[in-house]
Amino acid sequence: WRLAEKAAVTLVDRLICDLALDVDRHSVGETYLAHRPRHAGGFEKEAEATQENYGVAPEILTQSQLSSAGLAGPFYGAMTTPIGFGLNPRKYVAGLYKGAFAAGTRFFDRSPVVQINEKGVTTSQGHVKADKVILATNGYSSEDIPDWMAGRYMPAQSTAIVTEPLSDTALEAAGWTSDQMAYDSRRLLHYFRLMPDRRFLFGMRGGVFSSVSTEAVARTKVVSDFREMFPAWAKVGISHAWSGMVCLARGRVPFVGPVPNMPNVLAGFAYHGNGVAMGTFSGQLLADMALERRPALYPAAMHHPARRFPLGRMRRALVPPVYAAYHLSDLRR
Ligand SMILES: Cc1cc2nc3c(=O)[nH]c(=O)nc-3n(C[C@H](O)[C@H](O)[C@H](O)COP(=O)(O)OP(=O)(O)OC[C@H]3O[C@@H](n4cnc5c(N)ncnc54)[C@H](O)[C@@H]3O)c2cc1C
Repeated sequence: WRLAEKAAVTLVDRLICDLALDVDRHSVGETYLAHRPRHAGGFEKEAEATQENYGVAPEILTQSQLSSAGLAGPFYGAMTTPIGFGLNPRKYVAGLYKGAFAAGTRFFDRSPVVQINEKGVTTSQGHVKADKVILATNGYSSEDIPDWMAGRYMPAQSTAIVTEPLSDTALEAAGWTSDQMAYDSRRLLHYFRLMPDRRFLFGMRGGVFSSVSTEAVARTKVVSDFREMFPAWAKVGISHAWSGMVCLARGRVPFVGPVPNMPNVLAGFAYHGNGVAMGTFSGQLLADMALERRPALYPAAMHHPARRFPLGRMRRALVPPVYAAYHLSDLRR
């Protein structure tokens, strides 16, 4: 599984190079920031485990070194793991689309699939005959497309905001000048990064349903956490905000493989908010399976069909108490 995590990043890197994609790439690995002293205290051990499991040496910064690294904020230390990089996902997906289109792929948008069966798919516009169907609806899956999906995925909302471009003076005022993509040690973690156009992106997990009102609540919370973490930017304008659904699995590992009892259907989902790289890796695995090629790397952890969550259609009710418990634990010293 760990090999797959690294291979997923390598694959994205390779696709960007092979297809000559302009994706606003930045950051050397990712930086984990301790929001409590005890988290910084655990960095040495974590770095050892990372070295052992991933074969790379993380760099640790103490609290007093953060400002000179351009990582100032309410943090007690940082650990940078040199795997991964930041990109603009919209540019990435647009580049993949162009590459697939040039290779002969046909796309049909505005035609939602309403049924999958052994002959192919039925959409709102008609039928498509297919020897193989790949189900890749992740956090936007439906309980009955196909019925096997019922209860196996947990959609969870994530919300991100983006500021107006920040001047050098504004960056200096906050002490954040680093190009590193970063996240903090909260269980309900914040993710953030200064993008190449000098806008700052800041996001976090939120509700479980998508609607105008829940998205407004989530945005208010994200803006408030952003302003609290970076008070020097209290008056900086927010130019963009959006929410979407990520997908969780009970076993916390994505599933990629054939749907049981549906020999023509393959599925890949549950990337836990890390689908840019893992979704790409899973897409390659699914393509290999559809073409009956032997995948170079198919970790055993991804073979097991996602187990069902308790409570069936009511399962999203499980999330708010878990988030409340996470929030309380994030407040503990
Ligand atoms: C705010 C936010 C921030 C994120 N940040 C990161 C990040 O920093 N790093 C990272 O790696 N990941 C991040 N993610 C997660 C990442 O976006 C997802 O993991 C990734 O998009 C999953 O890709 P996917 O193609 O599997 O599914 P999706 O991108 O969710 O696409 C699923 C598609 O299925 C379509 N669909 C659903 N039902 C049907 C149907 N019946 N018929 C036809 N089509 C259907 C939907 O319209 C949708 O287009 C973030 C997500 C959000 C919302």
